[in-house]
Amino acid sequence: MITVAIDGPAGAGKSTAAKLLAERMNLVHLDTGAMYRAVGLKALRLGIDCFDRESIIEMMKTTVVDVVYSDGVQHVFIDGEDVTTLIRTQEVSKAASDVSTIPEVRIKLAAFQRKFAEKYDVVMDGREIGSYVLPNAEFKFFVTASVEERARRRLEELKSKGLAAENADAGRIIEEIRSRDKTDSEREFAPLKLVEDAMVLDTTYMSIDEVVDKMICRIKGELK
Ligand code: C5P
Repeated sequence: MITVAIDGPAGAGKSTAAKLLAERMNLVHLDTGAMYRAVGLKALRLGIDCFDRESIIEMMKTTVVDVVYSDGVQHVFIDGEDVTTLIRTQEVSKAASDVSTIPEVRIKLAAFQRKFAEKYDVVMDGREIGSYVLPNAEFKFFVTASVEERARRRLEELKSKGLAAENADAGRIIEEIRSRDKTDSEREFAPLKLVEDAMVLDTTYMSIDEVVDKMICRIKGELK
């Protein structure tokens, strides 16, 4: 089984790189952020404070998160509902980051992700795939970029989906990304972390194809 772990901060291009890598190397791509987003969405809908550990633990007892592929596109389900198109808003981004600080949420989602990696040749992207979910992954990458560049990309993405106005303010997105970086890297349980055996790819000045080419070279043993 091939397992590829891609970690890094918000908006660094992990998911896009993972998707292309999956296509080119015939792997299944699991975007783990979508699973945290689905849980965040459920908490928002129920009006539960995403840091209220007891209530979130209670909620998780009856929560079923699942992932299904249709025409090669990952769909994330929560309690049987396909929420793929509802989880990309700024509000859900924050809720996902907040609920992901709760260990019980992570333990449940990581169990799903580990089982998934036993069944398929995978490329999984997240924050702690190489350090916590799949510490024995064969190939590990840490994808990053400057905060300004990540905000610029996130804004483009939001605009293209009609979720931000053409004249939207990049400053707010920078603040939001900084705040998520902080929550993600400072949480106690399985934080965003660069592990020693990961190859670091700073994508600030790289095209997505260059990023994927580097990954493939590394996987094929052409790059140490
Ligand atoms: O990757 P994405 O931006 O979709 O992730 C949303 C949030 O979910 C992140 O800010 C992070 O807090 C959380 N997350 C996580 N662990 C993962 C994937 C995402 O904590 N493996």
